[in-house]
Amino acid sequence: MDKLSVDVLVIGGGIAGASVAANLTSKTKVVVVEAEEHPGFHSTGRSVAVYAPMYGSKVIRDITAMSSPLFKKAEDELSQAILSQRGFLL
Ligand SMILES: Cc1cc2nc3c(=O)[nH]c(=O)nc-3n(C[C@H](O)[C@H](O)[C@H](O)COP(=O)(O)OP(=O)(O)OC[C@H]3O[C@@H](n4cnc5c(N)ncnc54)[C@H](O)[C@@H]3O)c2cc1C
Repeated sequence: MDKLSVDVLVIGGGIAGASVAANLTSKTKVVVVEAEEHPGFHSTGRSVAVYAPMYGSKVIRDITAMSSPLFKKAEDELSQAILSQRGFLL
């Protein structure tokens, strides 16, 4: 196996690791190591799997509500549902 030379090793491909890596790549050689089969598997994946317009402060709720028309537009363009009802305990 060839040797891989990197400047920074980021452990974890969630949003934290991905953000750190993205911010470093212009100046350094970065590798993200993820234990799961794909990045964003844990908290990050669970977070993006939920559209919760009642969650968070007013600013967060307003931002979430602003994304609603984008989902509806995408559903129209794809002729496919993106959002579906699911249980949510807050
Ligand atoms: C339903 C839900 C809604 C949320 N809503 C919001 C919101 O509106 N706003 C907000 O700011 N936050 C929200 N959060 C919180 C937010 O999602 C998390 O704080 C964030 O995703 C955490 O990211 P992370 O990268 O730290 O962790 P993770 O996404 O868990 O990533 C850590 C990664 O590291 C990997 N890993 C761990 N140990 C190792 C190892 N030894 N070697 C290799 N890989 C390893 C794991 O497999 C994992 O993929 C929400 C969370 C949930 C569950």
